Amino acid sequence: MENNNVTMDKIVSLCKSRGIIFQGSEIYGGMGNTWDYGPVGVEIKNNIKRAWWKKFVQESENSFGVDAAILMNSKVWEASGHTTSFSDPKMDCKECKTRHRADNLIENYCSKHKIDGVVVDKMTNEEMENFIEEHKIACPVCGKHNFTPIRQFKLMFETSRGVTQDNTDTIYLRPETAQGEFVNFLNVQRSMRAKVPFGIAQIGKAFRNEITPGNFIFRTIEFEQMEHQLFCKECDDEKFYNLYKQKAWNFLVGLGIDQTKLRFKDHDKLAHYAKNACDIQYNFPIGWSELNGIHNRTNYDLSRHQEFSGKSMMYLDPITNEKYIPYVVEYSIGADRLMLTVLCDAYREEKLEDGETRVVLKLAPFLAPYKACVLPLIKKTHGEKAKALHTLLAKYFMCDYDESGSIGKRYRRQDEIGTPFAITVDDDTLNNGTVTIRDRDTMKQDVVKIKDVKNYILSKCEY
Ligand code: ATP
Repeated sequence: MENNNVTMDKIVSLCKSRGIIFQGSEIYGGMGNTWDYGPVGVEIKNNIKRAWWKKFVQESENSFGVDAAILMNSKVWEASGHTTSFSDPKMDCKECKTRHRADNLIENYCSKHKIDGVVVDKMTNEEMENFIEEHKIACPVCGKHNFTPIRQFKLMFETSRGVTQDNTDTIYLRPETAQGEFVNFLNVQRSMRAKVPFGIAQIGKAFRNEITPGNFIFRTIEFEQMEHQLFCKECDDEKFYNLYKQKAWNFLVGLGIDQTKLRFKDHDKLAHYAKNACDIQYNFPIGWSELNGIHNRTNYDLSRHQEFSGKSMMYLDPITNEKYIPYVVEYSIGADRLMLTVLCDAYREEKLEDGETRVVLKLAPFLAPYKACVLPLIKKTHGEKAKALHTLLAKYFMCDYDESGSIGKRYRRQDEIGTPFAITVDDDTLNNGTVTIRDRDTMKQDVVKIKDVKNYILSKCEY
């Protein structure tokens, strides 16, 4: 019997005990809302990023990857509007001195009390303050109702550069990767002889001084984004917007994510430059929340960069000779948020026939950190052969090796990190050159010749 009775606490504790994700700077008491990926976690995250790149660059016609600098000319952030308007409405609790986002306080209150029809995105600061006052919304930490007025809280991390102390320029840690794609529009178009419609993709770190980070890796101050900007003609914008909605959905389903836990959510209030925008939400243990966004950004970004840089962002259509600034359809997803989705979705507690419960991560094999683990039945007798097999397989894929504890215990450890195949080396290996391969999900065993093991595993881990 299987059950996905997943809570955030269970995921956090599994991640810590099995080397998936640790608290950042843990030996110094941690550093609020930073997380370090461990040996197992970094493999899963890299596999997620590889899968995304495969779908949005490798298999996408006319899509090109870039890896732009994190630190950019400050004018970029003036052009994008971040220096003036990238902020959140912050309120401090006067009692316990904790900081909160006013919009989140209202949203959580409405969802708890089943109040429909409140569109926080459309509220002014004054309306939010009034709502919080009227409903006597309490501080989620201390339970008291005593907040400061709302103040806009800047989300960009600032730093400075300069050779001498009094000659410094303020620069920013990028809060999104998107601008790296926009500022390279001309470079990519010319160097790759790209014709509109074409896309630029990037995976990279972004930093936001979030007021209320939390819920493990759901919202952190440093995270990775996977973004794809599709440059198209104005008349094609809605066609591509819908296409990317579908592509984004198919990508998630292709990772094995349960479709019943996914839904589209149109934005209630559009940014001034956006023509259309929606999120795909996932039903996390904390409730339905944004996993990724798809936006029709019109030609706002390139127009602004043209204005601020003085460089023409016009595209000349080589067939029709039309000249125009392309529209942009943006698809953006957090690699860490997707990692959390994948973990929550794959987590199972299964009651076995012998009455025991096993925890198993039913990851799609191509996302699994190790594709297989080699287990000698008896260390002394089968260890040498097992090690040789491990050395061979490790040339082709991440392969674990475990010789300590009972075979049952070793299976459980591999189940918990989602290893799809456990290869047991026993007397039959020594006598007949065969191993048994146990499938993580069905727990059925196949007998396979040693020379066929590599292809057996590889063929089941394709993406
Ligand atoms: P949210 O409403 O959750 O703050 P957002 O609408 O500001 O997100 P975008 O700016 O559209 O998010 O960023 C695109 C994606 O980047 C999000 O869908 C999410 O997957 C990821 N992301 C954004 N902020 C964070 C964060 N602080 N921590 C982790 N991932 C994030």
